[in-house]
Amino acid sequence: MQNLRQDNSYNPFRTAQREFDRIADMLDLDQPTRDLLRLPMREHHFNIPIRMDNGEARVFRGYRVQHNDALGPGKGGIRFHPQGTSDTIRALAMLMTWKCAAVDLPLGGSMGGVVCDPHDLSPQEQERIARGWVRQIGRNVGPEWDVPDPDLMTSARHMLWMLDEYEVIHSARSPGFISGKPVGLGGSLGKQEATGFGVMITVREALKELAIKPENMRASFQGFGNVAQHAVQLFHRMEGVTTCVSCWNQEDRTSYAFRKEEGINFEELLSITNLFGEIDKTKAQDLGYECLPGEAWLEQEVDILVPAAIGNQITNENVGDINPKVKIIAEGANQPTNPEAEKVINERGILVIPDLLANAGGVTSGYFEQVQGNMNYYWQRDEVLGKLDVQMTSAYINISDFAGKKELNLRDAAYVIAIDRVAHACQERGWV
Ligand code: NAD
Repeated sequence: MQNLRQDNSYNPFRTAQREFDRIADMLDLDQPTRDLLRLPMREHHFNIPIRMDNGEARVFRGYRVQHNDALGPGKGGIRFHPQGTSDTIRALAMLMTWKCAAVDLPLGGSMGGVVCDPHDLSPQEQERIARGWVRQIGRNVGPEWDVPDPDLMTSARHMLWMLDEYEVIHSARSPGFISGKPVGLGGSLGKQEATGFGVMITVREALKELAIKPENMRASFQGFGNVAQHAVQLFHRMEGVTTCVSCWNQEDRTSYAFRKEEGINFEELLSITNLFGEIDKTKAQDLGYECLPGEAWLEQEVDILVPAAIGNQITNENVGDINPKVKIIAEGANQPTNPEAEKVINERGILVIPDLLANAGGVTSGYFEQVQGNMNYYWQRDEVLGKLDVQMTSAYINISDFAGKKELNLRDAAYVIAIDRVAHACQERGWV
């Protein structure tokens, strides 16, 4: 049986706790509140016995970490991944608490999943695992308690299986139990676009503050998956120009950056990109794109950089390669900038729109799906995207105003607002 591993190398939970301690000092939080928020409220670890296609029984390890739900029901992904480490999951649950609070959603933070590798499992076996997860934890999650969402290697299909199992157990239709479902079966229009659009809404607000018009602003993106594609799309509607995007190449096991100085043609590039966000290298070159080493996305002479691939990409080794023209870094991915590199970026006066704010469009759209499911009344796409714009814009303005008043950068301002909101909710409820 595969278990949740304890990771002894880089520990994301210790890093998240250190970040929390730093902000707790700034807020002068009392000890009981610190003790409460440094650790998850609840952790569920459980066995999921299932029958494999060949008739053998196998036991998988499932988990759900509920960090804090003082502001509302928990929200967070479910991943199917062979390398689940308990501290990665704890860190992600904690970050969800802060992210929801930073953009003022009435939700808490959770994270969960199953230790398994979907590459080695048939769809039927994955369905049994998904249903098994709900059978074990169904009493501790739900629309009023904790609402899961897809994450690594889980999709709308897994969410629907989980919903179906939950409804069988509870003898009721309950579409607000889970988000990320297929549209037409409880899913929300606009969810696909929400994270990438959200990133660009925050860039738009930042440009307004800097009194720069988005027209002819130039941008370079790391990644060309769900987040980057929709961010590029909205950026082009704002009349910005994307000169470079990068992606991972599975066959060559390396990344490439694709550049066109006069600006990429989004539709053209999309037509030669697969479902994993991988651009066909040969076709791109035939279309006149320069194919450069993956790191080149960071070195471009652009105004805006958008890391939207994976974590830990801007480091002290490469921070010096950022072009002097860059004014804004908008973090589409989670934790793409390491703290050492950020010091240099801050000194150079580049504005960082932190992940907590920049990519919060994803959880915001999950919240909208949850609300629509609870009402069993579904909004048009424009209504969803309009509400997303309002939520993201007001979150940006609120965090930026606070940063200005307290002389903080946007990341610290977002953390201070978030942790203060959660701490107050715990204190007002009389928990500490
Ligand atoms: P995705 O799988 O759709 O796309 C990922 C993209 O990154 C692909 O183009 C891939 O080729 C590229 N990539 C992977 N490794 C790379 C590397 N080493 N160098 C360059 N490119 C690389 O993923 P996504 O949904 O677009 O998510 C992107 C990031 O944003 C992830 O870190 C994710 O955790 C974060 N995020 C996503 C959402 C969401 O709603 N999708 C919400 C919040 C945060």
